[in-house]
Amino acid sequence: MEPRENWFTEFYGDAALMIKVRKKIFEGQTEFQHMQIFDTEFFGKLLVLDGKVQLTERDEGFYHEMLVHVPMFTHPNPRKVLIIGGGDGGSVREALKHNPDEIVMVEIDRKVVEFCREYIGVDKGALNDSRVTVLYEDGIEFVKSTNERFDVLIVDGTDPNPVSKSLVMGDFYEACARISDVFATQSQTPFIQQEYFRLILENTRGVFLNRRVYLGYVPTYPFGLWSYLLASNRDISLDGEEITQRYVERGVETVYYTPTIHVSSFVLPKWVADIVNAYS
Ligand code: SAM
Repeated sequence: MEPRENWFTEFYGDAALMIKVRKKIFEGQTEFQHMQIFDTEFFGKLLVLDGKVQLTERDEGFYHEMLVHVPMFTHPNPRKVLIIGGGDGGSVREALKHNPDEIVMVEIDRKVVEFCREYIGVDKGALNDSRVTVLYEDGIEFVKSTNERFDVLIVDGTDPNPVSKSLVMGDFYEACARISDVFATQSQTPFIQQEYFRLILENTRGVFLNRRVYLGYVPTYPFGLWSYLLASNRDISLDGEEITQRYVERGVETVYYTPTIHVSSFVLPKWVADIVNAYS
């Protein structure tokens, strides 16, 4: 089927997501990727990189809250946070809710940051916060070469492509384990991108002592089912009471995340648990 005029279409092999577009705000090629920003009827502003939905205003909170709050609440006192990718600023915005001393965001593509700030504003000013440092360089090189340590390290990267492919490689994860106490990465959808999900499980095996997969719902990501990996050399099995206490103490306001969602997100459908167990 041909894409329809006034509709953005992302093909998932033999299926597709279609979103009615009010107006195209921007389209161009950056040094690293093809970028489009649309205004849409239902989802608000839509950011697309290399033909793939990165976020919409309507559901980006679902994704960013689960990516960020699960590792941040897992840590008893996250003072120093590293975010790899995440150029739209949504992850920084959520991490700031924990009142850390410092957040470093390493985004390879300056244009993503500039255009998201200008046309979407997802960061809600977070990238201007004095505790936030934005570095424009390859996150892989940064993690491999730094001597700094971080309480929490979050990978908010694109689907594996020539630029972000190394974000799912074993030597990158080894470097992440070396510099962080608690680690989390988005790990694609296990439903139709199983090859990426499996690759992440395979390449983190033996790197972290503890790993736990959790799931969330993001309507504009393939078929809505999204996965994340929490990993650490520390114990990361918290109970609901402890998480609730941290949630209340830190006064974090959310639209999707709750301590109950946090705990339940680790309950996996059998077919997902079977995949995860194959890489234990
Ligand atoms: N989670 C969103 C998704 O999967 O749809 C990702 C959103 S965020 C916009 C992803 C960012 O990762 C992009 O801005 C991209 O430029 C950045 N990125 C990709 N590879 C990177 C790398 N090697 N180092 C730093 N940033 C990278």
